[in-house]
Amino acid sequence: MSKLRAAARSRRGLQPGAGGARRAAARGGEDASPRKGMLPPVSAQQSAYHLFSHPAETEAFRKNLLTWYDKCKRDLPWRKLAASESDTNRRAYAVWVSEIMLQQTQVATVIDYYNRWMQKWPTLQALAKASLEEVNELWAGLGYYSRGKRLQEAAQKVVSELAGQMPGTAEELQKLLPGVGRYTAGAIASISYGQATGVVDGNVIRVLCRVRCIGADASSLAVTDRLWYLANALVDPARPGDFNQAMMELGATVCTPRAPLCTACPVKQHCRARCRVENELQSASKRLLGEAAPRCPQVPDVEECAAGAAGNCSLCLPATEPWDSSLGVANFPRRAAKKQPRAERTATCVLQRRGPRGESEYLIVQRPGSGLLAGLWEFPSLPSGPGLKEKQQREALLGHVQAWTGEAVARGCLQRVGEVVHIFSHIHQTYVVYSLLLGGDEKTALGRRDEALARPASRWVTQAEFQKSAVSTAMKKVWKACERQSCEGRGPAKLQEGGTARNGTAVSSRCPAPPSTPETGRGGGLPCMR
Ligand code: SF4
Ligand code: ZN
Repeated sequence: MSKLRAAARSRRGLQPGAGGARRAAARGGEDASPRKGMLPPVSAQQSAYHLFSHPAETEAFRKNLLTWYDKCKRDLPWRKLAASESDTNRRAYAVWVSEIMLQQTQVATVIDYYNRWMQKWPTLQALAKASLEEVNELWAGLGYYSRGKRLQEAAQKVVSELAGQMPGTAEELQKLLPGVGRYTAGAIASISYGQATGVVDGNVIRVLCRVRCIGADASSLAVTDRLWYLANALVDPARPGDFNQAMMELGATVCTPRAPLCTACPVKQHCRARCRVENELQSASKRLLGEAAPRCPQVPDVEECAAGAAGNCSLCLPATEPWDSSLGVANFPRRAAKKQPRAERTATCVLQRRGPRGESEYLIVQRPGSGLLAGLWEFPSLPSGPGLKEKQQREALLGHVQAWTGEAVARGCLQRVGEVVHIFSHIHQTYVVYSLLLGGDEKTALGRRDEALARPASRWVTQAEFQKSAVSTAMKKVWKACERQSCEGRGPAKLQEGGTARNGTAVSSRCPAPPSTPETGRGGGLPCMR
C-alpha cells in the first residue's frame, strides 16, 4: 500500500489542479474526502443511530472487514492487474475499464469481456486508436452500449488533451473524463492511487443501509448524502482501495439482497439491522416462555433512533412503510417503486440470400449513431404502432424490406417466425420476427440487390460474420428464434449445394416458401441456418 500512497502523493504533485476537492465542494456535494466532507444536517439522535460515532467501532469495522476480505476475496482479473501493475497510468486504466464494465453487469459476465478487452487494448493509447466499430464489436452482448463508446472517447481525450496522463485524483477524474461519475472516480482513485475516498454503489448502499438501519428511499438526496458521508468516514486511509472493494464484495457475496448470510458476516457485530432482528426474536421468545430476554449486546448505548421514534427522521423507515418482520434485515434498504418499462413492438425481418461464394448470407443494417443501441447492427426492423394488425404489419415490413432488396417481394414469401421478447432497462421490447429467403435468377437479382444496398449502413454477412459483428443480445435472440424455426421442422430442411433442400425440394425459386400458410408461419421460411 505504501507504493499506492506514494503514487498518490506523486501524482497529486504532478497535477497542479489537485485542489479539486475544494472546488468540487464549492460546486455542491462533490467533495469525496471524509475529513473535508460536510455532514448533512441532522439531529444528534439521528447522528448517533445512523452513524459510526465511536472511533473504536470504526476501527473495529475496518479491521473485521479487511481481515475477511484478505481471506475470502474472489480472484478477479482486474484485481490481479491492479495488484501487479507498477505503472500508475496503466493501473488506473485497468481499474477504469473494469469499473465501467461492471456498471449494471454481473461479475461473471464481465470477466471474459474484460480479458478480451485488455488483451486487445492493454493501454489507453491503444484504445484511443481503436475505431468505434471495433469497440462495439467487442462490447456486443454486454449491454448499455454507450459505456464502451464513452470509454473510448475518454481515452482519446486523455491522449489528445492530457498528454496521455490519467487525472490524478477522484475529483479530477470526475471533472475531466466523460462517463466518469462520482462512484467510478472514487473507485479508480482509491484502488489505483491509494486516495482515501469512499465509494457508493448498489452493494455499498445495501451494506450501509443495513448496518445503520437507513430505511428511507435510498435514492433520495438526504439518504444519498448520508451514504456518501458514511462511506467517506469509514474508508480505511491505510488501505482505501481494498476497503472499498471489500465493502462491494461483502454486498455481492454475503449481504445479498434477498438471502443475506448474516451468521457468516464479518461485520455482524456492527449491524443495527441484525441487532433489530435479534431483539425481535428475543422478545418473541420472552413472550412465549415468560422469561426476561437479554437485549442484543451490540452498541448498547444506541438502541433506536430517537427522532425516528418521534416520527421525525429523514433516514428511518417511513411511517407509511414500517418495519416488516417477515423481511428481517432486508427491510433495508427501501427503494422507490421501479418505473415499469414501456411496452414496444418492432417487426424485424431476417433476410437471407445465397452469396457470391455460395454461402448463405444475411442482411444487417446499422442503427443511427445516437439513441438506443447506437451504431449497432440489426436485421431490417420497423417499429410497429400500437394496435397494428398482423396484415398491416406485414405490408409495412414488406415495404421496408423492398427498399433494401430493390425489387418487389410477394407478400406470401414473408414467413412469420414468432415473437422474441427482450427487456432493456426502460423498454419491454417485443420483436415480431419474420424471415424471407431471396431466390430467383441469382446473377441478375444479386446485382440489383447489391446496387440497392450500396449504402454505407448495410451489409450482407455470413453466420460467422454475424456472430462477430456489433449486434445486440436482442438480435442474437432473433437469430436463435429463426434458427430454431428453420431447423426444427417448421422450415425446409438444410440447404445443400445447388439450391436444393435435403428432401430434394428446389429452393431457388423466387418465393421458396409454401404460400398456402403464410399467416401461420408454418411450413415455410429459411433453410436451416446452422
Ligand atoms: Fe448484511 Fe447481515 Fe452482515 Fe448486517 S449482518 S451487514 S444484514 S450480512
Ligand atoms: Zn432515524
